[in-house]
Amino acid sequence: MDADPRGAVRARVVVAGVVQGVGFRPFVHGLARRLGLSGHVGNDTKGVFIEVEGGEGAVDKFIEAVRGDPPPLAVVDRIHVESVPVVGDHDFVILDSDPSGDRQALVSPDMATCTDCLAELFDPADRRYRYPFVNCTNCGPRFTIVTDVPYDRPNTTMARFAMCEACRREYDDPADRRFHAQPVCCPACGPTLSFVGQRGDDALAAAVYALRTGQIVAVKGLGGYHLAALASDEDAVGALRSRKHREDKPFAVMAADVDAARTLVDIDDAEAALLQSPRRPVVLLRRRRVAPVAASVAPGNRWLGVMLPYTPLHHLLAQDLGQPFVLTSGNVSDEPIAYRDGDAFERLGGIADAFLTHDRPIHIRTDDSVTRTFAGRELLVRRSRGYAPKPIRLPHVLRRPVLACGAELKHTFCLAKGERAFVSHHIGDLENYETMRSFTEGVEHFSRLFDVVAEVVAHDLHPEYLSTKHAQSLTDIDLVGVQHHHAHIASCLADNGETGPVIGVAFDGLGYGVDSTIWGGELLVADLTDFERAGHLQTVPMPGGTAAIKEPWRMAAAWLDRAYDDWPPSGLAVIERNGDRWDQVVAVARSTANAPGTSSAGRLFDAVAAIAGVRDAVNYEGQAAIELEQASDPSVDDAYPVPVLPGPSLVISAVDLVRAVTDDARAGVDIGTIGARFHNGLADAVAESCALLRQETAIRTVALSGGVFQNQLLLEGVARRLSARDFRVLVHSQVPPNDGGISLGQAAVAAARDAL
Ligand code: ZN
Ligand code: ZN
Ligand code: FE
Repeated sequence: MDADPRGAVRARVVVAGVVQGVGFRPFVHGLARRLGLSGHVGNDTKGVFIEVEGGEGAVDKFIEAVRGDPPPLAVVDRIHVESVPVVGDHDFVILDSDPSGDRQALVSPDMATCTDCLAELFDPADRRYRYPFVNCTNCGPRFTIVTDVPYDRPNTTMARFAMCEACRREYDDPADRRFHAQPVCCPACGPTLSFVGQRGDDALAAAVYALRTGQIVAVKGLGGYHLAALASDEDAVGALRSRKHREDKPFAVMAADVDAARTLVDIDDAEAALLQSPRRPVVLLRRRRVAPVAASVAPGNRWLGVMLPYTPLHHLLAQDLGQPFVLTSGNVSDEPIAYRDGDAFERLGGIADAFLTHDRPIHIRTDDSVTRTFAGRELLVRRSRGYAPKPIRLPHVLRRPVLACGAELKHTFCLAKGERAFVSHHIGDLENYETMRSFTEGVEHFSRLFDVVAEVVAHDLHPEYLSTKHAQSLTDIDLVGVQHHHAHIASCLADNGETGPVIGVAFDGLGYGVDSTIWGGELLVADLTDFERAGHLQTVPMPGGTAAIKEPWRMAAAWLDRAYDDWPPSGLAVIERNGDRWDQVVAVARSTANAPGTSSAGRLFDAVAAIAGVRDAVNYEGQAAIELEQASDPSVDDAYPVPVLPGPSLVISAVDLVRAVTDDARAGVDIGTIGARFHNGLADAVAESCALLRQETAIRTVALSGGVFQNQLLLEGVARRLSARDFRVLVHSQVPPNDGGISLGQAAVAAARDAL
């Protein structure tokens, strides 16, 4: 530092990362005052800029603290420090935001109510006592209310609420916890709760009464409307299921706190940390046998999705109800969750008996995130509220900005620039106008928020995906097609900050191959740039094409037809159950007209589930496989034989497996044992395949990706076997292994190719 004759130095400090809306300026202000420094701090579109002046030791201490001890919600990517001439100011001030220039400042995800705000919420002496919108610089809505950058009140959906004098004083006072907290408000000036003509606390009391008496209440949350019902009330939960047209897919439950959650599920330390994190996801937890929840909450499932309150409104509801309640997305069947008031009244009017709502608009529809732990680490199932739009750091710096358009189901998109990948919130299944619009508007919004104008656009190879068609409709960009399973493996690499090469095991439902078949049980030797299909699950016909997804028994027919010459095996229940249709489907399987070949692991799960008697038809994606996993007895160690056939490309042969399943099913062996032997056999085959590929390639790292690896039993079995054989195993943690992670993989591949 250049010292002036009086011994003072002045430094300019620029901080980049997630530093706006997370209490960074009050933190800097307090720190500077404590150290007796003068100067200023401000937000601009690049992040936070600071100038501090004072004794050299104090300035050094200041920089050390900014680097080492920033506010809890801040993510500091880079700090740039330079010496500047001393100006001799006497105070430390906070400057107004500068809306000009490049937009590189990041918007933070939404954050659960902090402990300070919670204390106020339940303090009868506080002016915000029982006010459902209390928040501060450390907590509250962010991503869901931001309409533009820089992150300031006029660029949020709070713009319509003028601060009262008391709130303004807190907002302007650098010593206050609410200093420059953009959504700050109170009962006098902020949003108001309403419920069928009642307002404020009366509205809440009426909603609680409605829930207690078995009604279904639509509740406006942070990223959209939920539907709520008492978790213990079978009539209410059953009615919710039938009105929502959601037959079996589990509902999530909200519990007041960890102790209340423990009455429902078993929770270890890592899981408790996830439940209580400021991101507040739905955490999938092992359900207690005596859990006081209605059977309809999560039929046939050993796991229960539980979340803790993440807004003041949820805290009040949970507290006043005094028991856990179902809180599921406000939609009919698989439609996107409703988030605009008028649309919610229209679409949810036939489901909810009443609406608990308020007048703070939601700008971005954001579903609850769903997560679980694996080997002590987080393993996401759906990455959305609380996580998006926090960037994921890519393994290398991009040459040009990239847009990755994702796949189709569980859709996300990804914009990437520099070394950051902004993976979007969960958009939903891209198969209708509503989700398509969320996708295209979402891309526009992210482009503005993060100042990314894509020059390279990545897409799936499937020509019929709407995401592919969208990519192909764009002009003045370079298109990069990325094979679906290569994208899965690249996603796992990027998730772990690696570039490969690896042996990639990509097991999922379906993905467009580079030959004429549909892939889904793939062994790839891959890096971010390219891949080779080094092996795959044996290919069988998928009779009726996509009809086979809804009717797993069709895959049973295809596999049994492949496995038996002495057709048909007698006394098999799945054949008897399906009567005449069985022979028709076998005929379709043998024709080439409407039976594309597939190496899908998900479809093999379907076949085994149908033969074992789990179910013949599904009413949500992956249901048969999920129920087979749930039914499997983890204490069974033996395995069905699943040979790996050598060749230019390895083939995991499953005909022996299918015959063994059939023998057991005919002999009346229980589903738990069949399921376990199947999982064990498949895990053996994966480990064996990887060992064979290691001999050829000398690669010792395996990446596991694809929706099938949401299956804990298989993931655990494969990881354990690979570790025992001295492999290094990469699994997902920042994005899901399912197609929600595809966009990150596409972006990583497009970027790697663009750098060539
Ligand atoms: Zn707070
Ligand atoms: Zn106020
Ligand atoms: Fe996939």
